[in-house]
Amino acid sequence: MREKQLESSSQTGNLFYGWFDDRGQPRPTYEPPRDAPCPYCGKPVHAENVRTHSLMYQGVYAARSYFYRTHRTCDDADQSRTAIDAFILDMIERNGD
Ligand SMILES: [Zn+2]
Repeated sequence: MREKQLESSSQTGNLFYGWFDDRGQPRPTYEPPRDAPCPYCGKPVHAENVRTHSLMYQGVYAARSYFYRTHRTCDDADQSRTAIDAFILDMIERNGD
């Protein structure tokens, strides 16, 4: 199930993370939908309950910085943040972004 979702998201643009190619730019190069699913619970994130996380990742593009969004409440409730980071990083690697 998860494999299928990842495959289709890599074809159409992923739902979970975005990035900046230059730290000075005002808007991301790629931004996931504002109502994309929260990686913790799978329900849509919304403006009243959102937290944006930056990822430290040295990928193919050295200057690129990545971010992803979760519910604020899910993030507060779950202390396994590194597992979510790894989930997102794995997806970046898989998609070659
Ligand atoms: Zn959530």
